[in-house]
Amino acid sequence: MTTITSYNPARPADVLGEYESADADAVDRAVTAAAAAQKAWAKVPIPGRADIIAECGRLLAERKDELGTLVSREAGKVLIEGGGEVQEAIDMAAYVAGQGRGSWGDVVPSELANKMAWTTRMPVGVVGMITPWNFPVAIPSWKCFPALLAGNGIVIKPSELAPVSGEAFIAVLAESGVPDGLIQVVHGTGETGAALTTHPGVGAVSFTGSVATGRKVAAAAMETGPRLVSLELGGKNAMIVLDDADLELATDGAIFGAFGSSGQRCTSTSRLIVQRGVAAELVDRIRARADALVLGDPTDPATDVGPVITRASAERIAGMLDDALADGATIAGTSGITSVDGCDGGAFFLPTVLTGVAPDHRIARHEAFGPLLAVIEVDGLDQAVAVVNQVEYGLSAAIYTQDVNQALRAVDAIDTGIVYVNAPTIGAEIPLPFGGTKHTGNGFREAGSRGIEQFSQVKTVYVDYSGRLQRAQIDT
Ligand code: NAD
Repeated sequence: MTTITSYNPARPADVLGEYESADADAVDRAVTAAAAAQKAWAKVPIPGRADIIAECGRLLAERKDELGTLVSREAGKVLIEGGGEVQEAIDMAAYVAGQGRGSWGDVVPSELANKMAWTTRMPVGVVGMITPWNFPVAIPSWKCFPALLAGNGIVIKPSELAPVSGEAFIAVLAESGVPDGLIQVVHGTGETGAALTTHPGVGAVSFTGSVATGRKVAAAAMETGPRLVSLELGGKNAMIVLDDADLELATDGAIFGAFGSSGQRCTSTSRLIVQRGVAAELVDRIRARADALVLGDPTDPATDVGPVITRASAERIAGMLDDALADGATIAGTSGITSVDGCDGGAFFLPTVLTGVAPDHRIARHEAFGPLLAVIEVDGLDQAVAVVNQVEYGLSAAIYTQDVNQALRAVDAIDTGIVYVNAPTIGAEIPLPFGGTKHTGNGFREAGSRGIEQFSQVKTVYVDYSGRLQRAQIDT
């Protein structure tokens, strides 16, 4: 049996936990146990399921500081972002619990007399969930609450890089009154994820992670039979700044969007597409603010930017930087892997602004997942939108302008799942759908009213109370 170990990325000597990796037999036992518990759970009235989710939200609120600090320690986010992540789970609990006393389908008038028609939702059985390290509490909450409300059992595999936070969230769910056995946690790397993905007892696979892994998951999931597979994948998110924009506001947005969570959000701003006339001034402002950011231990309230998740990740980001320089970009200011006093072995990467980037450069096309902001100069809105849309990803985009016509033209023309006007590319809110177009996903959305779709099947019901044969499309 192999083990996985969770390290504090700011100080890897600080070990947070160790778990046995689940092999295929352990995954099978987990699926079997969740399936057994699911049968009774599916009979609990939906408002009763919702009450347990609401209780989970209450417990999470009580423990927000404790859990937020754990996320900060394990995933390297600064304290306010760790707390914000737990708040996302609290908001999700409130939203999903509300859905439990809301509409559960549509009632549609029949074309025939004395006949009724409606839709309802059925559970899929057991949902296999595979989650990334960068939102180790929020993403499990986005998946677990709607899956439970829909009447499912769950087997979840948290990321091997942040298993302790995932385990802590599931412990709160268990304490909220979720029946024994209904939620199973399996730990491990991709091998464990692959065993879960292909298990024939899993009715739906809900995956969040990189495009490369998502492709493997989708292909493998279909090997053992068709099933629901939801994919939430990477991004190459862009912020357009036109020459009439409020540059102070745009600077705030770029700093938070590009360097918050050390650029390791799926929605992080990694391309700044700026109209030529204001490019130099905007870069100067961003550079000055980036230089003032304090790198350090993320659990220290004075820290602005924490580490990246691993040394290997820092080296991967450095490799992308080398590619960018080879393609002709220039570093504006400082950049690179650095160290921080008191954080021995921590993988820190300086917030980096790259100028002279052309749309076809590798840094303009591939997800950086680190604090690299590529600046691309354009002549105007049409060119800016074309550059936004030219990548294979379609998660989030932003436009900064004071001209409402330009803003709404951009909203129409940008091909991403989320668009912001005068706000950064990060900052999704729970009651609204979250997800992307193109290679970022396969059409499902998380959160919002559509968040339930990946965890349930629609059943259409017809009731004919005429007492005789009525033929749709023939007797009308
Ligand atoms: P990753 O793809 O490396 O890993 C994600 C999960 O997949 C982990 O739990 C991992 O163990 C598991 N896994 C790896 N190989 C597998 C396989 N063959 N079969 C099944 N499971 C396997 O991603 P990561 O580094 O943890 O997260 C970062 C990525 O996630 C970025 O690309 C980011 O943009 C994306 N992300 C997307 C969203 C979104 O909602 N669109 C949100 C957060 C992160």
